[in-house]
Amino acid sequence: MQLKIPDSLNLYLPSPIQELESSLLKLKSVRVFVKRDDLIHPTLSGNKWRKLKYNLANAKSQDYKTLLTFGGAFSNHIHATAAAGKIFGFNTIGIIRGEAHESLNPTLTFAREQNMHLEYVSRQDYRKKTQSEFITYLHDKFGDFYLIPEGGSNELALPGCQEIIHEINAQLSLPVDYVCTACGSGGTLAGLALAKSSSKILGFAVLKNAGFLNDDVRKLLGNSGSACWQINLDYHFGGYAKRTQELMEFLHKFRQDFRIPIEPVYTAKMFFGLFDMIRDEQIPKNSTIVALHTGGLQGFHEQF
Ligand SMILES: *Cc1c(COP(=O)(O)O)cnc(C)c1O
Repeated sequence: MQLKIPDSLNLYLPSPIQELESSLLKLKSVRVFVKRDDLIHPTLSGNKWRKLKYNLANAKSQDYKTLLTFGGAFSNHIHATAAAGKIFGFNTIGIIRGEAHESLNPTLTFAREQNMHLEYVSRQDYRKKTQSEFITYLHDKFGDFYLIPEGGSNELALPGCQEIIHEINAQLSLPVDYVCTACGSGGTLAGLALAKSSSKILGFAVLKNAGFLNDDVRKLLGNSGSACWQINLDYHFGGYAKRTQELMEFLHKFRQDFRIPIEPVYTAKMFFGLFDMIRDEQIPKNSTIVALHTGGLQGFHEQF
C-alpha cells in the first residue's frame, strides 16, 4: 500500500535531528537529540503527517473520494487532514466539536481554504463520535466516506510513526536509551513502540487523568508486541490546552536557549517533563534521549 507523493510536495524526510546543549545536560552527562518532525512540511507537519500517510494510501487504494474526521476548533489533526485532502485529491469533511462562530479561528479558516466542509455538532453529539448509530447518521447525511478517528489514531496511524524509529536508527549511530513523545490519544507512542527497538518509549500525557491512555495504547498495539513503553501522567499542567505561568516561562526560555519553536499544548509539556526527569535523575545519568518534536506550531501563533 503505497501513497504516490508528488515531488513538488517537498517533504523534509527523513526529518533532521539536532542535539541540545545546556549546563544541566552537561552536568548529568545526558545527551538529548530533537527529531524535528515539525519541519516535515509547513501544513502537513509533525506526527499528523506520520499518522495520515497510510490512511491516505488505504483510502486511495479503495478508491474513496472523501475523508471524514473529527476534532475541536483548534485541532492540529483537522488542519493536517484538510491540507492532505487538498494535496492528495480528496474531499474532506470535518466534524467540529461545539457551536459555529461567526468569525473562524485560523485553524478553521485554513481548513475552509482547503475546501474542507465544516460540520458543527454539539458537545453532546460529539461524544458519540465512535458510536455506529452516529456514523450511520453521518453516512445518511454525507454519503460514502473514509473515516479517520479523532486525532487520526487508528491502526493505520502506527506504521507511519514506526518509521520515525527507523529514521532515528539510521541517523544516529549510537544506542538510544529513550525516545520521548507528547501523548494526546497515544497513537504516536503506540507507533513508536511498535518498532520494537531497544529504546524505551516514554510518553508525556497532556491531558489530566489520562490513565486510560495505557489501555488505549494496548488496544492499538493489539498482539503485535512492542518495545518497552511508559506514559508519565504528571506533566499535564491542569489538563488539555491548559497552561501555567511556569510552563510558559519554560517555553520562552526553551525557544531562546535552543532556537527551536515549541508550543504549550504538547511539546512544551514534554520538554518540561523530560528536563525535570533528567534533573531528578528519574532518567539516569549518561542516558541518550531522542525527543520527538511532533509539530503543532500552527495552533500556537493564533492564540497569542
Ligand atoms: C496530536 C498531537 C500530539 C499527540 O499525538 P497522539 O498520537 O494523539 O498521542 C502530540 N503533539 C502534537 C504537536 C500534536 O498535534
